[in-house]
Amino acid sequence: MLPDRKMYGLLNRPQSKSGFKPLPVVIIGNGPSGICLSYLLSGYVPYLKRHSIHPHPILQRKLEEAPDISILDQSIEGSMITLSRGDWMGLPDLPFKDWLKQKRRGLRNNRATAEDIAQYYQHYVMKKGLQKNFSCDTVVTSVKKVSAESISNHAQKDLQESSDSLWNLNEKSTEVFQVDGFFKTVKGDKEPFSIYAENVVLATGTYDGPTWLGVKGENLSYVHHQLSALEEAVKNIGVMSDPVLIVGAGLTAADAILFAHHCNIPVIHVFRRRVSDPGLIFNQLPKMMYPEYHKVHQMMKEQSAACAGPYECYVSFPEHHVLSFGKDKKCIIQDKNGYQKAYKISMALVLTGSNPNLSFLPNNGMDLAMDSDQPVNPKRNPIDVDPFTYECTQEKGLYALGPLAGDNFVRFVQGGALAVARSLLKKANKNPP
Ligand SMILES: Cc1cc2nc3c(=O)[nH]c(=O)nc-3n(C[C@H](O)[C@H](O)[C@H](O)COP(=O)(O)OP(=O)(O)OC[C@H]3O[C@@H](n4cnc5c(N)ncnc54)[C@H](O)[C@@H]3O)c2cc1C
Repeated sequence: MLPDRKMYGLLNRPQSKSGFKPLPVVIIGNGPSGICLSYLLSGYVPYLKRHSIHPHPILQRKLEEAPDISILDQSIEGSMITLSRGDWMGLPDLPFKDWLKQKRRGLRNNRATAEDIAQYYQHYVMKKGLQKNFSCDTVVTSVKKVSAESISNHAQKDLQESSDSLWNLNEKSTEVFQVDGFFKTVKGDKEPFSIYAENVVLATGTYDGPTWLGVKGENLSYVHHQLSALEEAVKNIGVMSDPVLIVGAGLTAADAILFAHHCNIPVIHVFRRRVSDPGLIFNQLPKMMYPEYHKVHQMMKEQSAACAGPYECYVSFPEHHVLSFGKDKKCIIQDKNGYQKAYKISMALVLTGSNPNLSFLPNNGMDLAMDSDQPVNPKRNPIDVDPFTYECTQEKGLYALGPLAGDNFVRFVQGGALAVARSLLKKANKNPP
């Protein structure tokens, strides 16, 4: 999708006089966090649905106290704003199951495919008329705070005049965010843009920077860090090929194993933990609901290098790690006792998690993290936000949503979006439009 004309004009505003007028808010990211916040800021006002029962009894009681007041206008404690819905990947007011039914499709074990989810989110944006808020194929490369004085006379004038707009911007605001980036044209060129905003919401997720092992040869062309590389490679790799090395013991690594298994591709599976380690995701998933992941776990247990099992084309190396990748496609792995083995492989997939790419922020966003000496990490070191507003404690006017703020599931994203919308609307000092 390309930016529509209105959005193109918006991103090119700096070239005209009025271009310096700061926007009330810029949201960076087009995943569920960005979509959900865009929905709430577009005039959709959430109320408690009559006769609905929230699974959390205290929250239910709170909501019932004021059913006629919009949830945006209610003061619900920070820890309780996780308005979990029946279908966990869904967004407000368009249940995922209903959409699937319309498509005459069902859920397997109550679960959806990634493709269905992607289509549902695209459909959601269209259905709720949010396209005008999105500028696709657009990459933000820098966000920094600048003083209104430093930008230009036009900007200052626009800041003062902006009280006529729908939003009442903070009169005392002397600083704004400068958001720079580019959007890709049909021809593949990069068109730069620069805009100013009173508030910026980081909704960029945490999947843009796959984790590297940091070992020798990891940058060789046969070593990959994304599952999609395997999907591409199966055109040339088959049952007679050297095995594919899969590193990691999370669900993405499991998906890769299942995919390779389905294509009869031999797999060497290397991971650091014991198969019985309670921290391993497979030991936390209910078997009935996730039979295919349970199968991978069984393979990991029953078909190790130390003891042959019933599964062909697969061998697991628990408590091993990769030492190096060679130019001759030989990979050296080592067990916990320091014993090394070399294997000739056709390709390697390092699937050990991912990190957010916040290179567009000063110091890669580290100053915003709970521990500002460490990089932002969704599980160990999320961005430090006020639990009632999701505004960064270290940078007023900057907000963080979704996994960046430690909300790692889609069902939690909605609570964060609600908090941000409420805070922004409060700042705007107007009732929700
Ligand atoms: C394999 C897998 C399975 C999962 N399964 C589940 C599940 O079953 N249930 C569940 O609840 N959750 C699941 N999740 C987690 C879920 O996907 C996330 O919680 C959710 O996507 C977070 O939404 P988000 O909008 O914050 O970020 P994202 O969905 O990651 O969206 C962020 C968007 O911002 C874009 N972006 C990043 N940087 C920039 C930039 N500089 N400029 C412009 N755009 C940028 C990204 O390209 C991306 O499109 C799963 C995740 C993975 C990887």
